[in-house]
Amino acid sequence: MATTLIKNGKVVSATGVIAHDVLIDGETIRALGAPGYFTEEGIDHIIDAAGKYVIPGGIDVHTHMELPFGGTFASDTFETGSNAAAWGGTTTIIDMAVQRYGENVHEGLAEWHRKADGNCSIDYSFHQIIGGVDDQSLKDMKYLVEHEGISSFKLFMAYPGVFYSDDGQILRAMQTAAECGAMILMHAENGIAIDVLVQQALARGDTDPKFHSYTRPSPLEAEATHRAIVLSHVAGNVPLYIVHMSAGDALNEVAAARHAGRNVFAETCPQYLYLTLEETLGKPGFEGAKWVCSTPVRSKDHDPDYIGQMGHGHQGDLWKGLRMNELAIVSTDHCPFCMKDQKELGLGNFSAIPNGIGGVEHRMELLYQGVVTGEISLERWVETCCTTPARMFGMYPKKGVIAPGADADIVVWDPNTKTKIGINDKHHMNMDHSAWEGWVIDGKVDTVLSRGSVVVSNDTFHGRKGHGQYVRRGLSQYLV
Ligand SMILES: [Zn+2]
Repeated sequence: MATTLIKNGKVVSATGVIAHDVLIDGETIRALGAPGYFTEEGIDHIIDAAGKYVIPGGIDVHTHMELPFGGTFASDTFETGSNAAAWGGTTTIIDMAVQRYGENVHEGLAEWHRKADGNCSIDYSFHQIIGGVDDQSLKDMKYLVEHEGISSFKLFMAYPGVFYSDDGQILRAMQTAAECGAMILMHAENGIAIDVLVQQALARGDTDPKFHSYTRPSPLEAEATHRAIVLSHVAGNVPLYIVHMSAGDALNEVAAARHAGRNVFAETCPQYLYLTLEETLGKPGFEGAKWVCSTPVRSKDHDPDYIGQMGHGHQGDLWKGLRMNELAIVSTDHCPFCMKDQKELGLGNFSAIPNGIGGVEHRMELLYQGVVTGEISLERWVETCCTTPARMFGMYPKKGVIAPGADADIVVWDPNTKTKIGINDKHHMNMDHSAWEGWVIDGKVDTVLSRGSVVVSNDTFHGRKGHGQYVRRGLSQYLV
């Protein structure tokens, strides 16, 4: 088996930065040593990381490759999407396998394996969306935990008629998850109320993309978050993970639950940390459609009907939450749609714009910017983007850490240069635009290894379709 030595770099973990050389044997890390400790003789491949950081490969726990939505499909396949992820220093994704109302869970999962198996350049795993909670799908949840390495299930309080579960269905699914130790992921928005606001807006002639955000005000995210927390408590303190948190008032609900010692967690995404309604969705004409996603990109200031302490706006709240561990993870909710023929389905009707932003390529880059600006520490960057994702979803210490025995998923990160994001700059997702067009980021992905194989180096893709393996996951290792 080939050996690789990464020398002269600074290894960053969730707990510190230490100068270490890293010896890789085949697909796994064999040892860490003081600089110069390992002899270079007989090593097949030497990577000089002088002046650079050596970090665990990024883990994006929330992606939607080829998701059917609103009469079309998310535009990245597992091949293009996993390649783009690798370009951005992400070496594992957890995608959302789909079961909709009336469909069979096993068939939904098999469909996701058909899409992904043999097509990924990096490792991948699945959460299972349960879009139709009934006796059969509850039985299937247990089977997936015991036999398929799927320990997390996503439910929706939004999208009535598509993915929506009512409170009774949510409670039943949570009780089942509690019985088998699984985690419930929740899309927490009050979809019934949102649908009323959407119909009223359209009836008024308010059809521009910005009304996507105005019809999903933050109190309806906070209310659903609160309700999900209460239901998870009644269901036996089942671990609950709120996805794509966008609002300060919703975050307050998670903070209160965590303060009470509950197994409640949350993630946010780069779009909520950096983008505002005014600068994106609010652009004149149809351009704002590029940023239509749910939960929505929010206003710079709190909504007028914000429930909670006013002050530094949603973004300030979210950064603070990330520092305080009220937000445990940054994912992307990668769900790309092209403007042409896809977002355009919603011309003249914002509610018909496919919901989603492409971001799987840029998460590590964008969050490193938070290190540069002093919002989070270097260690917290690695913790929220690499290590906690592995622990939260049962992949640690195979993933998420640079330690002997772990998979050699490693990124060499160059802090001394810059990355320009844009369609004609750095852009590898299968989309005709970028939500981050023109953004210039400090730092750059230098080299990416997936299980010991170089996937990206010197701005060149060396990855191989089919190298990526399905990761069977255990139960969450992050419970209080
Ligand atoms: Zn999603």
